Amino acid sequence: MFERVGVDTFFEAAPNVRVDCTLRFGSDRQRQFDQASGLVVDRPCLCTGLTEVGVGVPHVGVLVGEITRLFREVVDGWLVCHTWRFDCLALVRCHHAPIATVLRAPPPESRMQAVQLTDHGGREVLTYGEVPDPDPAADEVLVDVKAGALNHLDVWTRRGIPGLDLEFPHVPGSDAAGVVVDVGSDVTRFEPGDHVTVWAGVSCGSCECCRRGEPTLCVDYHVLGEHVPGVHAERIAVPEDNLLLVPEGVDWATAAAAPLVFGTAWRMLIERGELEAGESVLVLGASGGVGHAAVQIAAHAGCEVFATAGTAEKRAHAAEIGADHTIDYTETNFADEIRARTGKRGVDVVVDHVGADTWNDSLRALARGGRVLTCGATTGGRPQTNLDRIFWDQLSVLGSTMAAPGTAERACQLVWDGTFEVRIRETLPMSRVARGHELLEGREGFGKVVVVPDGEYDG
Ligand code: ZN
Repeated sequence: MFERVGVDTFFEAAPNVRVDCTLRFGSDRQRQFDQASGLVVDRPCLCTGLTEVGVGVPHVGVLVGEITRLFREVVDGWLVCHTWRFDCLALVRCHHAPIATVLRAPPPESRMQAVQLTDHGGREVLTYGEVPDPDPAADEVLVDVKAGALNHLDVWTRRGIPGLDLEFPHVPGSDAAGVVVDVGSDVTRFEPGDHVTVWAGVSCGSCECCRRGEPTLCVDYHVLGEHVPGVHAERIAVPEDNLLLVPEGVDWATAAAAPLVFGTAWRMLIERGELEAGESVLVLGASGGVGHAAVQIAAHAGCEVFATAGTAEKRAHAAEIGADHTIDYTETNFADEIRARTGKRGVDVVVDHVGADTWNDSLRALARGGRVLTCGATTGGRPQTNLDRIFWDQLSVLGSTMAAPGTAERACQLVWDGTFEVRIRETLPMSRVARGHELLEGREGFGKVVVVPDGEYDG
């Protein structure tokens, strides 16, 4: 059944096969895995008393000989082999020599469907097609995606941000939820069957800011889907640090759509803005993902909430989720309206993720000593600004980006328990993701756009 082959034969075969295992042999060798991989011959090594793994995989060759160039790490005289993408299922040697290399024919490459950007540009660069299945690393979790959600970040990534250098095709997406199907050997917090959702912020863990517990200030901060491949695919492999556990009763759309916007809004309002009960808060663009999270968080904090939205339907939604007052910014200047409604005082806090179109009116809507919070600029990030007003009224401009995973988890907890509600604007199959971008760019609807893998979409 097997063939003993020489070193040369092994290396000739190597390019055509791949490793798909993590193996550790020696005193802590993992017998279960040996069984799973079909290794059947064990015999004690005469030198060490430890067990030497031999042969036994169908369609496999066994190599006995010295293959020093494959040595990566030797532990207690035994090999630990876990990163190669060759065909050795196991490399083993007893204390001296020889080495047994178990070879296996490659599995046919499996493929899955994913949203892809073929280039930066308009909505036409969005496609849905095949990419290779993810291959989780030791610290990663393989997740079967049930739903994803769009953020304005997806639009920016598609259009291209200065300094963003992507390899195409690029799989976008920062929000997704699903079921754990497999975990890498170093993963400790999750197991197959767990319901999880993605937290997309990635920090280095070792810079000055990370060490003092401020991961969003990390010098190497990046976001899944923006700077590195994202999660709008049928299956994803993500580090366990980028996953949050979701209780089983939470529906997939909610699980997918909550983390980025509620985490970001919580960080901005509670940690950066230090909202206090009794303060007045104006949330611009209350119909957007972050906006609708901000309305709810401000109301939950005991603030008097003003919200702007461009249609009666959106304003009704905003009122339902906690806005005390709504303003139609298409009919009236919102800063004038705020000043009129507050006896010329203004509000304590303005949440402005709109940017260029609203910036100066945001400053004008503030009370003296007020603060403006910004976490984005969907209409552009280069407004003219009124410094006179900032210093004379002693205003604070507070920027905010994403959140620490613990902060996101705290905010999401209040979604899972029903305190906060994720409003779903529309649910689309991933193959219609371009329509989702259109909804965001056209400011159509209220709340989050959810995208699900076509195979999971039931209309
Ligand atoms: Zn860092």
